[in-house]
Amino acid sequence: MSKLLIVGSVAFDAIETPFGKTDKILGGAAPYIALSASNFNVSAAVVSVIGEDFPEEYLTMLQKRNIDTSGIELVKGGKTFFWSGKYHNDLNARDTLDTQLNVLADFNPVVPETYKDAEIVVLGNLNPLVQLSVLEQMSTKPKLAILDTMNFWMEEAFIEDLRKVIAKVDVITINDEEARQLSGEFSLVKAARVIENMGPKYVVIKKGEHGALLFHEEQIFFAPALPLEEVFDPTGAGDTFAGGFAGYLTKTGDISFENMKNAIIHASNLASFCVEKFGTKRMENLNREEVQKRLQQFKKLTQFEIELS
Ligand code: AMP
Repeated sequence: MSKLLIVGSVAFDAIETPFGKTDKILGGAAPYIALSASNFNVSAAVVSVIGEDFPEEYLTMLQKRNIDTSGIELVKGGKTFFWSGKYHNDLNARDTLDTQLNVLADFNPVVPETYKDAEIVVLGNLNPLVQLSVLEQMSTKPKLAILDTMNFWMEEAFIEDLRKVIAKVDVITINDEEARQLSGEFSLVKAARVIENMGPKYVVIKKGEHGALLFHEEQIFFAPALPLEEVFDPTGAGDTFAGGFAGYLTKTGDISFENMKNAIIHASNLASFCVEKFGTKRMENLNREEVQKRLQQFKKLTQFEIELS
């Protein structure tokens, strides 16, 4: 079975949306990515770090979804990374209220021996130097390295490190505002071109409820987001998208542009579930039937016949 290696934050999140507020719940890029990828029954492992305050039950939940957590280091006496955010009324924008790196501040990732030859690697949101270290530990060059990042790492203190990792990956997934910030271009078409020149051959720009774009040389593919009656909490939608994209490509083993289009659809489909409940709750018990049913809806939404003269 093909292997997927995931590095990313594991966190406590405190979230406020117009519909409610949570205390510390499970968050971080890695759980979202892994839960999403677990829908493809691939062998997946997470590399991350937690403190002694992290509940065992969260790890058990991930293991039940067949996710290898042996690469999650537990720091004795340490505190788990904490993030808190508040969404605006339209849910497309949020403010970060607090970021406490805690054990993430001096994290040295160790890739499990059995995953050093993983075909696909997802470098989820965290310090670019940690992302680089994971790539350097691989014994064989992965078929595809996918990078997800955010504006926090585009600040002056980290931007040079971020550029180094961007230069080494095949795919970058990034949201529209971050693509503009990184490239200095307002047009997303121009932004994608600038980012491609930094290294990745494929650029995925996520536009929240407005879908996602895939760029590769002169080719562009667009997938809408499934229009939902209720969006409860958008946290983790981007990571869930990245996990779905990577999970599908790992399962199929085909990294052509044509197959990446399908990966984008699977990614959008899975992200549509993530936003329906707070935190990871909706992703924890998602089953195959639900996923397949919504995929049908997706197909109906996007398929049309048109006569071209
Ligand atoms: P998303 O909504 O897809 O952007 O991802 C939200 C997740 O990213 C939350 O669960 C946070 O714990 C995590 N997160 C927020 N800021 C950071 C950061 N600076 N480094 C790593 N993870 C972060």
